[in-house]
Amino acid sequence: MEKKGILIVISGFSGAGKGTLVRELLSRHGQDYVLSVSMTTRAPRPGERDGVEYFFTDRERFEEAIEQDGLVEYASYCGNYYGTPRAYVEEKLAEGKNVILEIEIQGALKIKEKFPESLLIFVTPPNAEELKRRLEGRGTESREVIASRLARAAEESEGVELYDYLVVNDKLEESAEEIHHLVAAARRAPVRREAFVKGIREELHSFAKGAQE
Ligand code: 5GP
Repeated sequence: MEKKGILIVISGFSGAGKGTLVRELLSRHGQDYVLSVSMTTRAPRPGERDGVEYFFTDRERFEEAIEQDGLVEYASYCGNYYGTPRAYVEEKLAEGKNVILEIEIQGALKIKEKFPESLLIFVTPPNAEELKRRLEGRGTESREVIASRLARAAEESEGVELYDYLVVNDKLEESAEEIHHLVAAARRAPVRREAFVKGIREELHSFAKGAQE
């Protein structure tokens, strides 16, 4: 297998359970993946720790990071900035790790543009009713925030076809394994095995030339 890891983007409607799903994937196959921690201007929810769920910051510092080209991508979502710090992603990919970005759709599309070999996975609950129930059940958000997240989910549903795969998050363990298998398959695609393809191609050309002489 190639040493370089692949960039895996996991998006999904707010409340789709993608955070829990990513944690399940990491607890099952932690040796194969690392999770990028994003920077955000959103306030921490109860229990969220700086540097673990997010790097919490203010608009001024976020804009500084943009100016210094310190983010691989960033987007504005429901009134706050969210972005992926560049250094960690580049370092881990070079170490051969598969790097997971748990980001929304605008960011996902920017990643696909910059890294065409990235793998884009969209996670959805089995139906819209379930999504609404999960968002309301979280109990950490106001009615306005829930309404704005539902409106955003409706908008995002228009872009689902731009992703490589859709995972319906019904049973947690099964969905985590499904993602693991999708990644394993993606790593076997010729576009992600550049060094191997190049090596065998060069050898074959040289053998073919030798056989003609
Ligand atoms: P939440 O506020 O619920 O933690 O996240 C809101 C949305 O922002 C989610 O869809 C989440 O995936 C997305 N998000 C988190 N970090 C990033 C990031 O670094 N970049 C982008 N584009 N979206 C992010």
